[in-house]
Amino acid sequence: MQQLRLIVASLCLIAGLASAATADTACSADKLGVARTLVLSTKGGFEVGFKSYPRSLDLADHEVVLTFDDGPSPKTTPAVLAALRQECVKATFFLIGRNAAADPALVRREVAEGHTIGNHTYSHPILRLLNDAEARRDIERGFAADDEIAYGNAGMEPKTPFFRFPGFADTLALVAWLKSRDIGIFGADLWASDWLKMTPDEERQLVLGRLEKAGRGILLLHDTKQSTAAMLPALLRDLKARGFKIVRIVPGDAKPAFRKAPPGWTSETEAILAKVLPELRARHGGGTPGAAHLPESVE
Ligand SMILES: [Zn+2]
Repeated sequence: MQQLRLIVASLCLIAGLASAATADTACSADKLGVARTLVLSTKGGFEVGFKSYPRSLDLADHEVVLTFDDGPSPKTTPAVLAALRQECVKATFFLIGRNAAADPALVRREVAEGHTIGNHTYSHPILRLLNDAEARRDIERGFAADDEIAYGNAGMEPKTPFFRFPGFADTLALVAWLKSRDIGIFGADLWASDWLKMTPDEERQLVLGRLEKAGRGILLLHDTKQSTAAMLPALLRDLKARGFKIVRIVPGDAKPAFRKAPPGWTSETEAILAKVLPELRARHGGGTPGAAHLPESVE
């Protein structure tokens, strides 16, 4: 009898350990999770995101694609990854190549945890302020750095042919060039404005309000921002509570479907750039602006 009790106790202990391990990795129904994976062929290229372009991905009502720009950052990206993992959510990280080079372990963790690696140049210059050759060089250097770090090798074309322009400052020539290389260009449908100083709670409320209004969309956040890292766990729980669904995007063979912008659409990012670029040009005196950012507008 004593022996039987011991055996039962041991079995319970083992079962307990096993369920603890499962709870850590499996996704229960109370988590936000991933509702579907959208496979996107970039053959011939495309540009999506209503902030800059008159079309976006064909998302259903309440579907959201989470994207994080400018990382990785050792200060904030680990918390972002932990929050995503806690809710079994997959996102896309548009990396700055030199940040990836500075913290390769975080990039590999993003890959290992099932996130999609997008590209966001090597040094985050405002490409519209560079000449075309300089701009292409920074983009290509970013592709190579991201792939080398994420996958251990870089081919002729980026492994994940997803690209976002720093500050949304595209040019017709660069868009045509990227599309000729079968690269998909991602703008955003809405953003967190997390380049502005806000408390985490203010940022969360802002994002929720914008999402409720838009009903769906490609959401831009920055995994380099404290307020974003801090509010993400609560935001993901709010998304679950309000019936939003996460769509993971990955490259592949399926021809993408697009939604058209409503009549009267105009580019919000062009309007911002029209205000900000003359100032930046003046500040840099026509020289190479290097890593010029758009601090008070859009990153
Ligand atoms: Zn950026």
